[in-house]
Amino acid sequence: MRVVTDWRLDLIRAHPNLFHPARRAPETACGGYPKCGDGWCELLNSACARIGAALEKSDTFNVLYIGEKLAKLHFCWRGNLSAEAEAKIADAVARAEARAQVTCEECGEEGRLYCSAGVPLTRCVVHARGQPVQVTPGREENVHIVRRVVAGKLRGICCRRYNRETDTFVDVPPYAHWVDLHGEILPSSFEGYEYG
Ligand SMILES: [Zn+2]
Repeated sequence: MRVVTDWRLDLIRAHPNLFHPARRAPETACGGYPKCGDGWCELLNSACARIGAALEKSDTFNVLYIGEKLAKLHFCWRGNLSAEAEAKIADAVARAEARAQVTCEECGEEGRLYCSAGVPLTRCVVHARGQPVQVTPGREENVHIVRRVVAGKLRGICCRRYNRETDTFVDVPPYAHWVDLHGEILPSSFEGYEYG
């Protein structure tokens, strides 16, 4: 008999303190069941391992949603955390979301943004469909606004470039249209995120 495995269920079962699955039906009762392709399995494994390692006994953490929308990974969570754990988890999630933008959603190899019949896709050359989407002139690839970590705690937001080889962010100057007259990044540049 062939045993069918589901990496999504394996991920949930490996991290019960993140997903809080129901024992009998983790795939239906758990809001965090990943709704994305197999290619993002590894980066989600890494993110969940980092989140698990960041949690202290007094912390609580819940995955609310993991899925692909318009070729991007959305990793939504809620937690009652120490400042240090929150900073580490925000970094782990930001790295996973940035990595997904340069990782083929089908196979996990290095990928980029394509557009097929109006639908954006993150794919490698082998699994590409449609046309590659060119970066807007004046912009760079892999640049994100992420929450800034100072002395292990979150402090505002900053502009960083993601390096897929090293799986790290490097600070870069923000685009001119992302900053106000004082050089501060405009909150409206940061998609749907509260920051402190
Ligand atoms: Zn691929």
